[in-house]
Amino acid sequence: MAEVVSIAAAAASLPWDVDAVRADFPALAQLVNGHPLVYLDNAATAQKPRAVLAALENYYQRDCGNIHRSVHQLGERATEAYERARRNAQAFLGAAEPREIVFTRGTTEAINLVAATYGAANLHAGDEILLTGMEHHSNIVPWQLLAERTGARVKVAGVNDRGEVEMAEFERQLSPRTKIAAFGHISNALGTVNPVAEWTARAHAAGAVVLVDGAQSAPHLPIQVGALGCDFFAFSGHKVFGPTGIGVLWGRAALLEAMPPYQGGGDMIASVSFERTTYNRIPYKFEAGTPHIAGAIGLGAALEYLQSLGMARAAAYEQELARYGAERLAALPGVRLIGQARERTAVFSLVIEGVHPHDVATVLDTEGIAVRAGHHCAQPIMDRFGVPATTRASLAFYNTRTEIDRLAEGLEKVRRVFQF
Ligand code: PLP
Repeated sequence: MAEVVSIAAAAASLPWDVDAVRADFPALAQLVNGHPLVYLDNAATAQKPRAVLAALENYYQRDCGNIHRSVHQLGERATEAYERARRNAQAFLGAAEPREIVFTRGTTEAINLVAATYGAANLHAGDEILLTGMEHHSNIVPWQLLAERTGARVKVAGVNDRGEVEMAEFERQLSPRTKIAAFGHISNALGTVNPVAEWTARAHAAGAVVLVDGAQSAPHLPIQVGALGCDFFAFSGHKVFGPTGIGVLWGRAALLEAMPPYQGGGDMIASVSFERTTYNRIPYKFEAGTPHIAGAIGLGAALEYLQSLGMARAAAYEQELARYGAERLAALPGVRLIGQARERTAVFSLVIEGVHPHDVATVLDTEGIAVRAGHHCAQPIMDRFGVPATTRASLAFYNTRTEIDRLAEGLEKVRRVFQF
């Protein structure tokens, strides 16, 4: 055991070989508009390593069968690979048991699942659902739908000028009526890293159940759901370098067991008759119909890949990029950074007075630089900062300082074109 720990410690101290990491991602090695691609739209979706592409190809070329009910070889291999992916997700999150891992289509579906099952079964008129002002629409609208259905009320912890929710504000919005608190771990629009363990402790003390939207933290931080203390944690496969259309809901076994099913269909039942249907055990109770088998297997490969890189090392490297990028971009005349939280990741939301974010992104694209322009599915936080949209550069562990320099040069070009 001591030996294992010391090997892990040695690996953690190794320098980050970004060129070697980049070589794992074929999409990064392309020219766009005649320039080497600078991919800075990782908060929207991340590129895929060869390990993921190979896992998908292997499933479709060799192991393509349906899961859980085939006795033939292909079905057995597919089932084994699918359940192995579940164990990978368990390990990635530090969850107690594989049955606490429910495969969903992504973060959005995971949150909808909790709202439609736990929420519908446990919330009543007068109850409160606590969100923050920096949530993605996926962590707002499912709760609004639940509130409409149950008569519960959505409350919002406000955001300060730096792009943080202060603890006093969070506590002010909590009350004995708060039945659910749901908040993002990292803001996709600002890059703010929220103190979710502390918030969870406060919410639990008020008697609320806690869901953490981990869509933006799972790709950038080591996650241990036990240390966060939350009750549900959701993330998306495509943002953790895996396939689209697959994601994970982690929930405490006791809660999942007590929740009603989400959708009805194959695999989620124990027995069906017209008189009475009984439901399967967790997690299958929440996985109706043929799931995205290839997606889950690809996600499992992505999580294995991340574990082999080491999330703590990746996070340390990204912190360096975040510091460098913040300094480099803040020094550009006419460029305003929205969101200056003390704890933040390498997400830069930019506003250039007089130039529409779409125009900024279009000029950058001519230089082969991929960024996002828009409200980032987080309109309330855009309103909070009084802007309709921003240009967002969001980095991952395969990005480099040189790419941040290319972004800065691209923004200089925007300046020349629009003369701001
Ligand atoms: N939550 C946050 C913070 C996000 O950034 C996103 C996607 O950008 C989502 C939820 C929704 O994720 P998905 O569209 O993969 O379901």
